[in-house]
Amino acid sequence: MEQTLHDRIEELRRSIVEIGRYEQANDPEAPAPSVAEGVATGVLGELLGRPLPPELKARLRQVQKRVASRKVGAPRRDLGRDLIELVDPLGRASWADDLLAKSLAALSGVGPKKAEGFARRGLERVADLLFWLPSRYEDRREVSRVSELKVGQTATFVAEVKVVDWAPTRRGGRFGKIFQAVVGDDEAVVTLKWFRGGESIAKSVEKGRWLLVSGEVKRYRFSKELIHPEVERVASPKEGGGDQQAKKGADSEELGRVVPLYSAPEGMNPRTLRRLIGQAVEGYSDLLQGHLPPTLVKERGLPTISVALKALHRPEADVDVERYEAFASPAHERLVLEELYLLELGLAMRRAKAVERPGVAIDPGRPESRAAAKALPFELTAAQRRVMGEILKDLGRPHPMNRLVQGDVGSGKTAVALLAAVAVGACGGQTALMAPTELLAEQHYRTLTKMVQSGGGRIPLRVGLLTASLPRAEIKQLRGLLAMGEIDLVVGTHALVAGEIAFKDLVLSIVDEQHRFGVMQRAALSAARPDGRFPHRMVMTATPIPRSLAMTLYGELDLSVIDELPPGRKPIETVLLRSGEGERVMELIRETLARGEQVYVVYPLVEESEKMDLRSASDSREQIARAFPQYRVDLVHGRLESEERHAAMERFSAGESAILVATTVIEVGVDVPGATLMVIEHAERFGLAQLHQLRGRVGRGGERGRCVLVARGSSQKSEQRLRAMTRTTDGFKIADADLDIRGPGDFLGTRQSGHLPELRIADLLRDTLLVAVARNVARAVIDEDPGLSKAPSTRRAVRSRWGARIDLSGVG
Ligand code: ADP
Ligand code: MG
Repeated sequence: MEQTLHDRIEELRRSIVEIGRYEQANDPEAPAPSVAEGVATGVLGELLGRPLPPELKARLRQVQKRVASRKVGAPRRDLGRDLIELVDPLGRASWADDLLAKSLAALSGVGPKKAEGFARRGLERVADLLFWLPSRYEDRREVSRVSELKVGQTATFVAEVKVVDWAPTRRGGRFGKIFQAVVGDDEAVVTLKWFRGGESIAKSVEKGRWLLVSGEVKRYRFSKELIHPEVERVASPKEGGGDQQAKKGADSEELGRVVPLYSAPEGMNPRTLRRLIGQAVEGYSDLLQGHLPPTLVKERGLPTISVALKALHRPEADVDVERYEAFASPAHERLVLEELYLLELGLAMRRAKAVERPGVAIDPGRPESRAAAKALPFELTAAQRRVMGEILKDLGRPHPMNRLVQGDVGSGKTAVALLAAVAVGACGGQTALMAPTELLAEQHYRTLTKMVQSGGGRIPLRVGLLTASLPRAEIKQLRGLLAMGEIDLVVGTHALVAGEIAFKDLVLSIVDEQHRFGVMQRAALSAARPDGRFPHRMVMTATPIPRSLAMTLYGELDLSVIDELPPGRKPIETVLLRSGEGERVMELIRETLARGEQVYVVYPLVEESEKMDLRSASDSREQIARAFPQYRVDLVHGRLESEERHAAMERFSAGESAILVATTVIEVGVDVPGATLMVIEHAERFGLAQLHQLRGRVGRGGERGRCVLVARGSSQKSEQRLRAMTRTTDGFKIADADLDIRGPGDFLGTRQSGHLPELRIADLLRDTLLVAVARNVARAVIDEDPGLSKAPSTRRAVRSRWGARIDLSGVG
């Protein structure tokens, strides 16, 4: 394997320390360290011959001077100590980090203005620029003749400037000047145009000069032109012309190469950006130290980070462009794995910490659990039983459970939560169930009390509801009951249950996330009880994220999947309609109402356009109410007082209203068996996971559910996504389809994407296989060395990269 800069400097340091010791010892008997001397000067020479950051170079020059000034065979104490002092800091890992963390202004050619432009893109340190990878590559290996240029193609060619001029123009009502140049060879000409920035271009585009031009060829009336092409001055080709000569004469940096394309900060010339990145790579990439275990690097045949960066920023002539653009080269693999490895280490560290905390073991084999399961009005599915088994096993351990229970809408997670609470209650412990909204908390409370009642006394569970909208006195009373242990299961929102509430004996806390996705924050461990022990934790989610993604997002949680729906569910039928098809929608509503069934009409509510969205929802309510005067139509949205909302939900639930127009507040949890049709307006604005969950709300009573997705102003891409919804009702398949089309942020809905870990290079979905590799290696490493004490620099890197985001406090 290639030696890194670190290795070389370490070698230098060792030999100089050896020389220094010898001189300090001042012992005429000791053999002179001639080998060390040879190594020192050899390595020094080699280092000084490389492009390095100026500070490092200056330091090495100093070392070189001292080494040269020393007289062999005439030991001098001072010089020995000097040498050691000079070279010792070179051996500490932090100097490299310090250099990499330098502001971009350290690069020559980056002044305050450019630095600001970079900063707007989140690029502040030299290291940021190194990892600013090209998103595409332009193949300039083929040099065309001007006469061969084809409209619509991206081409590179060499041409002489024949004419330049400034043409007045009016674009968008504003007067301006276009700079244009007619360029060509002895066969043909083409026009180049700059609508802005012409002043600076004009300096290099002068009549008679030869240029290397690169860009997309467009049609303009009867001729061809290039708008804002990249141009570079080149020497004029030798007599005779022709491709080969042009190439040679041009003598260009970028001719005959594959050139990386970056998304440049606004106003920055792409060539300038390439040059700056090249400079950073030359001077600094050597300082980057990898953290992957050497065995993994060897096993997968990965290049060093610096070799990888060089390959990506300045590809060889024989590069496989397609593979590069798919992020599928060994160079990409190295960088992706490095990044994922640090994340997975952080998660594994936190997991290791959580696993050893003191918890509260209960007796998982109490008869109450079995009796309660039998008393439910249905038989548990095999998947529910399996997951219950996993939970009970965890509850029986003296360390806190940390488990994610993933199950599609309607898979019966609530029943599982209930049975877990029964098991805990049977041993005198308490359970808290936290829901993301009050509405959902109330719904859970109702469902749970109904289930308990249906058991006719065989489900021994005292359930309480605690939400902010309850009367003060009631809240107070409930708190009292909790403190005395008179309530076994309390249902509430996070705010009420997570705060200063006193439980007699909280053993299990359950978070129902439904589709909400607080991954990184939520992963923070729940607080200790007054006795210092930690409650068991269970997170329920209906987000059909692929297992590999779940494993990373919830890295320190164990995963249980309820991958089976209760029998007899009829799959929901979904149709996709466009804005012109309002009649069809009304028709479907009419038919549904005629059968005595109920209808949801859902509107998106986006914070940025909240007012407008609310207006369209209430307009729609009115329109529908006019169309169906004999039915009651209700409207619910998040702005309503909770009583009003509650009353409306109750009416719908009881069948008093036939149509419920709602913003997405209903997406989480409502369960109205009579509702069989759901119309989703502006379906293109929802994430597929959300759509999937929304649609899971209909057909819960045995009748077939139907869902109408109304796409308004959708693009080809969003059509493609929505069509996936009509093809399958399997949440995981939908998730896969959506991830393929759009990627994780969009899939989860933009509001939730903020909860994904911010990865620079890796992509949790594209790189699923590497995620698994990184996770396995990270877990193995942490099993051996939970605090990473054997790899301090890696430990530092994990902390500085992920410490804040994944809450590593108290870890390692
Ligand atoms: P989830 O929370 O996973 O969306 P719920 O727990 O709310 O699902 O269950 C959805 C519906 O299915 C509820 O009406 C519930 O009573 C019912 N249910 C749960 N488990 C079963 C089962 N094993 N067999 C039949 N119905 C079930
Ligand atoms: Mg539920």
